[in-house]
Amino acid sequence: MPRDHTSRRPGRPARRTDASPDAERDLSAAPLYSPARVRDLLDRHGLRPTKSLGQNFLIDGNILRAIAEAGGAASGVPVLEIGPGLGVLTREIASRGAQVTALEKDERLRPVLAETLGGLDVNVIWGDALDFDYATLQAGTRVIANLPYYITGLLLSRFMRAPGIASATVLVQKEVGQRLAAQPGSENYGFLSAIAALYGSVQHVRDVPKGAFLPAPDVTSSVIRLDFDRTREAPEPAFLSFVEAALHHRRKTMRNNLRLTGMDGDAIDAALNATGLRPDVRAEDVSLGDLRDMALKLGVVR
Ligand code: SAM
Repeated sequence: MPRDHTSRRPGRPARRTDASPDAERDLSAAPLYSPARVRDLLDRHGLRPTKSLGQNFLIDGNILRAIAEAGGAASGVPVLEIGPGLGVLTREIASRGAQVTALEKDERLRPVLAETLGGLDVNVIWGDALDFDYATLQAGTRVIANLPYYITGLLLSRFMRAPGIASATVLVQKEVGQRLAAQPGSENYGFLSAIAALYGSVQHVRDVPKGAFLPAPDVTSSVIRLDFDRTREAPEPAFLSFVEAALHHRRKTMRNNLRLTGMDGDAIDAALNATGLRPDVRAEDVSLGDLRDMALKLGVVR
């Protein structure tokens, strides 16, 4: 993946390119995240936000500060941002002295980031965040990002598995945040909740209304902070696959979910019995401890 340090040019004051008196008003006094500056940046660079890349840009300073604060952006802290976009969150994080690496797929944003991140020491890596090798990150790295929602699950799973990542403070769809923080027996409990608990803890920081973005997304969002406990032994891939299969359809019985993977019905019944679970227990009611017991009794892990 190509590496590119963004230019260190001092930020230029933003100017409209048409000549109407209204358009000539100086925008440089407005903060970078203000709707007027964001529209101006997009106009001057001939860009339109791309829905398929999940481009909903933040235009609310309070939210930007809250994410950077909750994510632990501070002097000398290594921070990884996915999707810097126009650079508004990146600026907020970098101006607190954090060492920011940002992964951005949309090459059209090169000149925008050269302008908005001028003067800041940010390492922008151009390419797909799904191709990045997260195992290379230094210990204590904090992810802080307004994630592209179409790949939230895949990215969270990469963050959890990367030993160098200490926490991830991310904007996600509200519904995903609820699933991450859910306990067994609650309405939103499922695979995401179980693996989040397997790797550490989840904190709901705040909800974010649609109006905090340009363009506004279809859904309400939440800022969630995941803290990963790296003193725990990394879960075996076989156990992760088992949990995924067992909770695949959260409203179905766990027995049916496991049968769908081709497991023997009698063996599942014996394991349920030995674990002290009802044969018709629903996936949404099974705790991580019970999943571990089931996996042991079925010989999935040792
Ligand atoms: N951080 C900016 C903000 O808060 O205004 C932009 C966030 S926007 C929700 C998501 C960003 O992720 C966009 O800049 C988009 O181009 C980028 N993106 C989308 N898919 C990506 C991928 N697969 N790898 C890296 N970046 C991606």
